[in-house]
Amino acid sequence: MPRYTDRIFSFEFFPPQTQEGVEKLRMTRHELAALNPRFFSVTFGAGGSTRERTLGTVLEIQAEGHVAAPHLSCIGSTRENIRSILKQYQEKGITHLVALRGDLPSGTASAGEFRYANELVSFIREETGKHFHIEVAAYPECHPQSASPRDDISNFRKKIEAGADSAITQYFYNADAYYHFVDECGKIGIFAPIVPGIMPIYNFSQLARFSDACGAEIPRWIRKKLEAYHDDIDSIRKFGLEVVENLCENLLENGVPGLHFYTLNQAQAVKTLWKNLGLSSNSES
Ligand code: FAD
Repeated sequence: MPRYTDRIFSFEFFPPQTQEGVEKLRMTRHELAALNPRFFSVTFGAGGSTRERTLGTVLEIQAEGHVAAPHLSCIGSTRENIRSILKQYQEKGITHLVALRGDLPSGTASAGEFRYANELVSFIREETGKHFHIEVAAYPECHPQSASPRDDISNFRKKIEAGADSAITQYFYNADAYYHFVDECGKIGIFAPIVPGIMPIYNFSQLARFSDACGAEIPRWIRKKLEAYHDDIDSIRKFGLEVVENLCENLLENGVPGLHFYTLNQAQAVKTLWKNLGLSSNSES
C-alpha cells in the first residue's frame, strides 16, 4: 500500500531555454506525472526574464491535464506588469501561484515598484481576490539578507497576513532547522502549512554553488563525504540518495504536510526516492 497518501507532493521545474531542453522536460514530466503530484510548479526569472517561457511551460503542463503553478517574482517589475501577468494567468485558468520577491540580476538598475514578497501577495489579493491559492517562500535556516532569525519569521508572517495560503521552504539537510522554524511560527500564531523543499543531490559542485547563493547549509559531514568522492558521480548520487531519503523519511514520520521536490528538470532521483519511501505503487524505477 502507498504510504503518506494524505500529504501534498509537488515537483518544481525551470522553464527550458532550448528546444532540446523542452523535449527533455516533456519526458521528465511524463515520468513524474505517473506519481500523481498535487501540482507542478515552474520558476520565473526576476524582472520577468522568463515570462513567456514560464507561461509556455505552464500551459503545456495544463494541457496534459495537470495542475500547474507558475512562480511569480516581483523585484524589478511594475504594478502594470504584474497586473498583466495575473490577468493572463486568470484567463488561462491558472489557480495556483508561488509568489516571490526574487533577486535582482547584478547590473539591474531599478528595483521596480515592489520591495518585498508581502507587497506582491497583497497586490495579488487586491487585484484578484481569492482566485489564486498563493504559496510563498520560507527559510528554516534564515534568508541570507535577514538581520536576525526573529526578523526573518516576522517578515514571513507579513506574507501570511497579506493573504498567502501556504509556504514552501528553501531546501535544507538538517530537519531540526525546519522543526524549530515551524515551532517558532506556531508561537506567533502562524499555522499555515509549511511544506519542506527537498533538493536531491545530483552533483556536488552545483549543490555547493546553489547553497552558497541561497544560504542553505550543507552540513559539514555531508560536504566532507561529497568532496571526498571527487568525480565519482555514482558514489555521490548513491550517498546523496541515502541522505535525502533519510531526511524525507524523518520529515514524513514527523507529520510534515507534504514535500516539494526541486527536480532540476530530472526525473530519476525523485522516482527512486519515491519508490524507496514507498510513496506510491505506480512509480517505476
Ligand atoms: P521576501 O519574503 O520579500 O524576503 C526577502 C528578504 O527581505 C528576507 O531577508 C526578508 O527577511 C526581508 N523582508 C521581507 N519582507 C520584508 C519587509 N516587509 N520589510 C523588511 N524586510 C523584509 N527566485 C526567483 O527569482 N524565481 C523563482 O521562481 C523562485 N522560486 C523560489 C521558490 C522557492 C520555494 C524558494 C524558497 C525560493 C525561490 N526563489 C525564486 C528565490 C527567492 O526569490 C529568493 O530567495 C529571494 O531572495 C527572496 O524571495 P522571497 O520571496 O522569500 O522574499
